[in-house]
Amino acid sequence: MCLLRYFAAYLVLILSSAPAAAWGVLAHNTIAGLAQEHVSASVRQAVRALLQPDQESTLVDIATWADDLRDSDPARFRATGKLHYVNFSSDGCRYDPGRDCRNGECVVAAIQRNIAILADHSRPRAERADALRFVSHLIADVHQPLHASYRRDKGGNTVQLRYGRENWNLHSVWDSLIPNSTRRRWPDYAAALTAGVDKASAVGDAVQWAEESCRIVRDGSVYPAGERIDDAWLARMRPVAEQRMQQAAARLAAVLEHALSGRSH
Ligand SMILES: [Zn+2]
Repeated sequence: MCLLRYFAAYLVLILSSAPAAAWGVLAHNTIAGLAQEHVSASVRQAVRALLQPDQESTLVDIATWADDLRDSDPARFRATGKLHYVNFSSDGCRYDPGRDCRNGECVVAAIQRNIAILADHSRPRAERADALRFVSHLIADVHQPLHASYRRDKGGNTVQLRYGRENWNLHSVWDSLIPNSTRRRWPDYAAALTAGVDKASAVGDAVQWAEESCRIVRDGSVYPAGERIDDAWLARMRPVAEQRMQQAAARLAAVLEHALSGRSH
């Protein structure tokens, strides 16, 4: 019994340290927690009304739903997996839907589509609830710089790195290792970041947010100099990730304010 429990705990440890496919759980929950705090009471109520029939009530409850489909509904995950990112094919960081988002299968078009569904109060509740789940998740994803970067290395997925004795690819490092290096749980992380959530940064649309991410990758130091990364490098990158999390939260809050407050357009 004791041994079994030990083994179960070990398994949980292994599973929870496995790199995630998108902003990791900590970053997603933190962004959702920040947005939840920055929307009006009437929007919080509208979110609860949409989600309650599914036994959920806040943005944090749905923050990782679109990634969790990988296990909960593999067929749906296969059908929607491409909606978590966009790959630019040139160094210009200019979004060209015909080239970069064929058949509307990228994060930019998915955000636009789901905002429209969410804002359409004549649609069925369940459809709008799923749109809310996608909008909340994908607005976070498009702010992870490597979710809107270059096709040539699949958004950093083909860049192999060493962290201590662990193997990581650069994409997963930005999804999880950098945010997780804060060593906080999401409520504490959200509390630490909330003062920097600036309503004035809630500008633009999905196209601009994706192009911003691409420019951070193009112009910044998102790529480490060598294949070894350490805690000092993670600490240097974390402010970039945190600013993107704060912008994502401010923009998600603004989108929900428009789509749900009754002032929808
Ligand atoms: Zn994702």
